[in-house]
Amino acid sequence: MASSNYGTLFVFAELTSVTRSNSCQWNQLMFRMLFVVHLLSVLFLQTYAAARADDPSIECVSEWFEVKSFAGGPSPDRVLALCEDTRSELFRVWVERTDAVSWQPRCKINLHPTRAHYLRKVGLGAGQTSGCSSIQMHAGKVVLREIDLLLDHAGELTALPHELTHVLLADLLRGRQPHHWLDEGIAMLADTEAKQKLHVRDCHEAMLSGNAMTTSQILALQSFSSPDQMPAFYGQSLLLVKMLANQSSPARIIRFANDSLDHGTEAALRSHYKINGVNELERAARTFAFQQVSSQTPLTIVSLRFKP
Ligand SMILES: [Zn+2]
Repeated sequence: MASSNYGTLFVFAELTSVTRSNSCQWNQLMFRMLFVVHLLSVLFLQTYAAARADDPSIECVSEWFEVKSFAGGPSPDRVLALCEDTRSELFRVWVERTDAVSWQPRCKINLHPTRAHYLRKVGLGAGQTSGCSSIQMHAGKVVLREIDLLLDHAGELTALPHELTHVLLADLLRGRQPHHWLDEGIAMLADTEAKQKLHVRDCHEAMLSGNAMTTSQILALQSFSSPDQMPAFYGQSLLLVKMLANQSSPARIIRFANDSLDHGTEAALRSHYKINGVNELERAARTFAFQQVSSQTPLTIVSLRFKP
């Protein structure tokens, strides 16, 4: 927008210099002036259009969100409505209340017109993703909530519910870092059904090929030592969380996640799910995983839409 402001000022300067002239060749001056104004207007509009295409500056604000879209992108008020609906649904499932937590500062939602634009913001490490959430904490409180998103080929924001779940978990775990398998497992339940099926397939293939991780490894992992771990980790984590969600209400998983951080995972498994230790969890998880491969029942327990 800085360049478009320069354009406006420049037009004003040209008009001023012409108005001060006492030349008798008024018509010629008028013609020159109109030509200059026309030329500068074209330049201004081109600069403005380029700035709008590069800068997602079409904004809309609600109580909990600030949405920035881009020229030619989805209308920000429709995206805003999608964000509000998704937030309510996630709170309904995971907390059983829709007004559980206030989001101040608001969650920023940035839509990017191209992958290059998206990667400039989130970094090249997110090259395979279409959504990225950033959460900053200070003194146990969230001081920044921000989600960067790309539309998919169908114009849908398929990554929005997953990333919004990560933002929500930061509040529900009182600013503490959740265990990685719980963080991703819960967030994957907000993925599209098609994506969840791919994770289940990955889990099944890992178990058949002997590349599955042990449950102890899954529970302990906080960052990947190799990209080869990712398919099994995501697939197994999704099914572990889904299995626990089936045993009780989904909201119990949040209480379990908090107790895991306070008292350790084994103690929390015993008190919330009557599961005595990691070995028992491993046996139950394998049985559940093989059942899910042959089951046609969708995993998802969150009712979502993805199109703004
Ligand atoms: Zn995630």
